[in-house]
Amino acid sequence: MTTESPVDSVLAGLDQTRDWQEKFYRRLHQYPELSHREQRTAAEVAERLRSFGYDVHEHVGGTGVIGLLRHGTGPAVLLRADMDALPVQEQTGLDYASSVVVTGEDGQQVPVAHACGHDVHVACLLGAAALLAGDRDSWQGTIIALFQPAEELGDGARRMVDDDLKAIVGKVDVALAQHVLPAPSGTVGTRPGPVLSAADSMRVTVHGRGSHGSMPQASVDPVVLAAMIVVRLQTVVAREVAPADPAVVTVGSIHAGTKSNVIGDHAVLELNVRSYQESTRAAILAAITRIVQAECQASGSPREPEFSLFDRFPPTSNDTATTTRVRAAFDAFFGDRSTDLPLQTASEDFSDIPTALSIPYTYWGIGGIDPDTYHRAEAAGRVAQDIPVNHAPDFAPVIQPTLDTGTQALVVAALAYLGRPHP
Ligand code: ZN
Ligand code: ZN
Repeated sequence: MTTESPVDSVLAGLDQTRDWQEKFYRRLHQYPELSHREQRTAAEVAERLRSFGYDVHEHVGGTGVIGLLRHGTGPAVLLRADMDALPVQEQTGLDYASSVVVTGEDGQQVPVAHACGHDVHVACLLGAAALLAGDRDSWQGTIIALFQPAEELGDGARRMVDDDLKAIVGKVDVALAQHVLPAPSGTVGTRPGPVLSAADSMRVTVHGRGSHGSMPQASVDPVVLAAMIVVRLQTVVAREVAPADPAVVTVGSIHAGTKSNVIGDHAVLELNVRSYQESTRAAILAAITRIVQAECQASGSPREPEFSLFDRFPPTSNDTATTTRVRAAFDAFFGDRSTDLPLQTASEDFSDIPTALSIPYTYWGIGGIDPDTYHRAEAAGRVAQDIPVNHAPDFAPVIQPTLDTGTQALVVAALAYLGRPHP
């Protein structure tokens, strides 16, 4: 009989994992891989998981990796990390900065960097997987360590789901995930309810009738039609969505015509929509369709408009009971380093996994910025100007205490479900 808590017992092993986690992280950071091309990362993850004693499934949905570890009867907890990097030229000046350049889909050379910090997620989850495997007497149940491809494209999680994820993982009780953010390193932020927005991009093609610029009476002018649509779309959020329910409709791109004295025959608009509730999301997309169709009719457009959706991300809305349980465990372990996470405007595809498995989930943030640097910027009112954010070429989490914190957070949250009661 031991008096040590499961958390203390499992995390005592951090002194053994920290060293290889840091080395692994530096290498991963230096050699990032783009979405759906995470072959080397996936192979290294699989090899490590096997060495910890996990039952490993590779090539799930392309480059996805799943490690399963069963130990007695108890809940099954899924821990998820994403593995992909971005087409960004790293400008961090770090001695382990990436100088990787690859050939993109279009044949162009593209630089690659872990500018979103997914390398942090991989190193932390591998560490947590090792720690939990190394101290099985402190927990019982099943650990599912899931490493997904292509979060940045919004389809990596779905591809794993479509590749028989359910059959591989079996019955799962809860899913947990984290993201490194521009907040002080050492802190963990949780939030019940909506946490990340849903994102939808939409391409709208509207049709007019081409004519000479001097003979507008012979035309249906797609430029005027598109302009009416852009103006009228401003009313969707302002007049159709409740003020307390944040949402955005942006027309990011508009193309029509070729020359000042030619009236073209079509216009293409590209929209980006952000929302936090599925019902709001559906209402906004329906409103856009309605307005575009009505404006086309008002203009006497000769053909129905065309709509296509792309780059779609689901909303991320944390289950309240799960978040409360994890938050209590974080408060007990991290003390005042356990904080409230503000509502984020970014998007994620993680929730596609728990949604497909019909299970609750919570998603939290860990800080990645040197605390002194962060607090200096905060005191000067210059956080937005001075602290690099995810996807910026100079976004570079400090290795510690970021890796320790992310590893601890995963272990603490998992043990909130798997840990044996304190004797
Ligand atoms: Zn990202
Ligand atoms: Zn990310």
